[in-house]
Amino acid sequence: MEKHVFKKKFGQNFLNDSNILEKIYCSVNPTEKDLIIEIGPGSGNLTKYLQKYNCQILCYEIDESLKNILENITNEKTTILYKDFMKSDIENDIKGYKFQKIFVIANIPYYITTPIIEKLALSKIQFESLTLMMQQEVGERLSALPNSKNYGYITVLLNYFYDIKILFKVSRKCFFPEPNVDSVVVKFTPKKNLQTNFEKFNQFIKDSFQYKRKNLKNNLKKYNTENIEKVLLKNGFSLNDRAENIPLEVFIEIVDNL
Ligand code: SAH
Repeated sequence: MEKHVFKKKFGQNFLNDSNILEKIYCSVNPTEKDLIIEIGPGSGNLTKYLQKYNCQILCYEIDESLKNILENITNEKTTILYKDFMKSDIENDIKGYKFQKIFVIANIPYYITTPIIEKLALSKIQFESLTLMMQQEVGERLSALPNSKNYGYITVLLNYFYDIKILFKVSRKCFFPEPNVDSVVVKFTPKKNLQTNFEKFNQFIKDSFQYKRKNLKNNLKKYNTENIEKVLLKNGFSLNDRAENIPLEVFIEIVDNL
């Protein structure tokens, strides 16, 4: 382990606090018939805990120089793919697996936190849950409520797909090398029966949040605002509000009536 040269460009901050590893392990409950995807196993600190579930594990690691270390933990149930998760075709990679449920559990590289979650959210795979370590600020943004500065496009988008819960905070001291931010572990549980047209919804919230300082009337000029206004008024809002005031359910109702 001493020999590994840490690569900042890959967001390498390895979690080496057994209390936190144990807490992550206890926050999910896969069985032997399930499959876990881990993004960025690093030196395998978390992977070793995940192996205690005795289920199948598929890891994506971009840094091939970790092979020497990771070789020691691969076995018939744990596979490491040395490739960029962002360029991977997960659906194809899991084709050979038989499993009941599929989970994502990972201490992910922070420089691509949002792209990773978006990729998972937009994939066709029905994940049981995603349990992800991320920078505290990002976790707070994703779980923010309306009327707060943190509540933005990405909040509404991800809350459309998931129930999002911050499980616990993790001090920067629990990592090596120590990063200059604290972290949180966040659990995403997919919502069932999403019926709203996603493309329409995505475009609408993008437009609503386009200029943060502007109100809905100004951001939504390209729409026929009559129906939008009806739904807003019915819910106690108006076109003079900003997108950051509008709860997810109201956005959904507006899009369903567009
Ligand atoms: N899970 C480990 C390491 C976390 S650090 C632990 O908790 O100790 C983040 C890891 O993600 C590093 O190992 C880094 O090499 C890897 N990584 C960075 N970018 C990646 C990418 N695009 N695809 C797959 N792995 C990546």
